[in-house]
Amino acid sequence: MFIHETAVVDEQVEIGADTKIWHFSHILKNSIVGKGCSIGQNVVVGPDVKVGDNCKIQNNVSVYKGVTLEDDVFCGPSMVFTNVFNPRSAIRRMDEIRPTLVKKGASLGANCTIVCGVTIGKYAFVGAGAVVTKDVLDQALVVGNPARQTGWMCECGEKINDDMVCSVCGKDYQWLNDVNDNSGDDGIVFVDLAAQQKKILPDIEANIRAVLQHGKYIMGPEVKELETRLAEFVGVKHALTCSSGTDALIMALMAYGVGPGDAVFTTPFTFIATAEAIRILGAVPAFVDIDPGTFNMSVEKLETAVLEFKKDYPSGLTPRAIIPVDLFGLPCDYDGINKIARDNDLVVIEDAAQSLGAEYKGRSAGGLADIGCTSFFPAKPLGCYGDGGAIFTDLDEIAEKLNSVRVHGKGSDKYDNVRLGINGRLDTLQAAILLAKMTIFPREVQKRRDAAQRYTRVIEGLQGGGGVVVPGVFDGYKSVWAQYSLLAKDGEMRSRIQERLKENGIPTAIYYPTPLHLQTAYQDLGYKKGDFPVSEDCAGRIFSLPMHPYLTKKEQQRIVTAI
Ligand SMILES: *Cc1c(COP(=O)(O)O)cnc(C)c1O
Repeated sequence: MFIHETAVVDEQVEIGADTKIWHFSHILKNSIVGKGCSIGQNVVVGPDVKVGDNCKIQNNVSVYKGVTLEDDVFCGPSMVFTNVFNPRSAIRRMDEIRPTLVKKGASLGANCTIVCGVTIGKYAFVGAGAVVTKDVLDQALVVGNPARQTGWMCECGEKINDDMVCSVCGKDYQWLNDVNDNSGDDGIVFVDLAAQQKKILPDIEANIRAVLQHGKYIMGPEVKELETRLAEFVGVKHALTCSSGTDALIMALMAYGVGPGDAVFTTPFTFIATAEAIRILGAVPAFVDIDPGTFNMSVEKLETAVLEFKKDYPSGLTPRAIIPVDLFGLPCDYDGINKIARDNDLVVIEDAAQSLGAEYKGRSAGGLADIGCTSFFPAKPLGCYGDGGAIFTDLDEIAEKLNSVRVHGKGSDKYDNVRLGINGRLDTLQAAILLAKMTIFPREVQKRRDAAQRYTRVIEGLQGGGGVVVPGVFDGYKSVWAQYSLLAKDGEMRSRIQERLKENGIPTAIYYPTPLHLQTAYQDLGYKKGDFPVSEDCAGRIFSLPMHPYLTKKEQQRIVTAI
């Protein structure tokens, strides 16, 4: 320990071994300074302050009461802490101190100011001259006044590039998992929207603020920008955002004039919205059973169904369209489906509510048929913070109709109504949120694929494959893994596995417990048990594991062990 003769150290102060205190510095009473610290010139610490081990406090810094520095904190020269938020000289507020915490390894640049009451995360980096007014995440880099996050920093003090690998020390941060691993040991969630939000919060906040400032809440500039980016992402000419995935399907059917007297082929193994959109327009869903390997509509069965339908025209219905569903994020076999559609003069509407980000033979889901519909429901691969959806097409005429249907069937304006329409717009705030999410979406898609691959590898390594069937992967298909779904041997085995996982704090879900032809609301269609045996069999024994881009290897290992 070294204390320069001009320094003042009060009573009841603890100073650790190997700590040096230089000229004119003052350590006030009841303060603790750890081992191996360097306290520069003209520094004030305390009273009642705790400074961890190996901290460096440069010249002219006052670490006031209320401030806590963990180990390895660097305070640059002349940086400033405060401890009263709204000081007035004439009003005594020393009993209103707001505590400030600087976590392990953080660096506070020269001349920066840390407004009291904030927490600076582990290994965070505050740029020189920044004014920090709110909490800084672990390993975040913040600059400016007020300080905003512009990136992430490695423990070694270098910026981390987009691959989450430090270009200098080579440390692989593996996405967010290791950067901010707050998942603990019991925090497995089915879809982790909080981890995603943590990663992009500054962008989301900035985008929302921009909307609040310009005030164009309906069809604001963010909606146009999002549509441009979505069209580019999917590789189609037109992307029209809308109020939900369900409305996307309804609007697509409306644009093609599907209604009473029409039949639409679709799968009974999907979310209710697919068939609901058909029925709400007065058309009739004609169900086609699925392929047991993909859970998607079987092309062979579709071909048979179309032929049979034409042969006996059971109820005088006109077949108009096919709505295949890319279930769990895996695209259907569109070469097969589109050919049947062409041969029979049917429109194909891709229900891509779960598959945005997926690929089929090098083309993007959403753009695999005449028209594609997706959903931005929060739990979908690309979700907003409410309801939202989008429709994709290359056809100008259909895009124009959709544009009209979306706003009450408008003609030259919304008070000139040329067709039946709905209020089907996406609101500007949701567009702003989606724009922030889109920047990390491609990376998230890759992370989902990595997680699915890990699940499959580890489950297949279990004795007897864990008694479950893992989802297939197929040449030319790249799923976006909206769900990772397993088939148990039977319903009883499924219940036992789900129970076991639940005891271990692991949530599971069943998509979907009842095929649509057996739903109460659809009884009038005249279907019965046994009509679609593959869908019924899958519904009886399928279940899904937690799946999101922020799932760690450790978490997956825990989940599989419980199986
Ligand atoms: C979620 C979903 C929809 C409906 O989307 P919303 O945005 O919730 O209306 C339609 N089809 C499928 C297959 C879905 O998973």
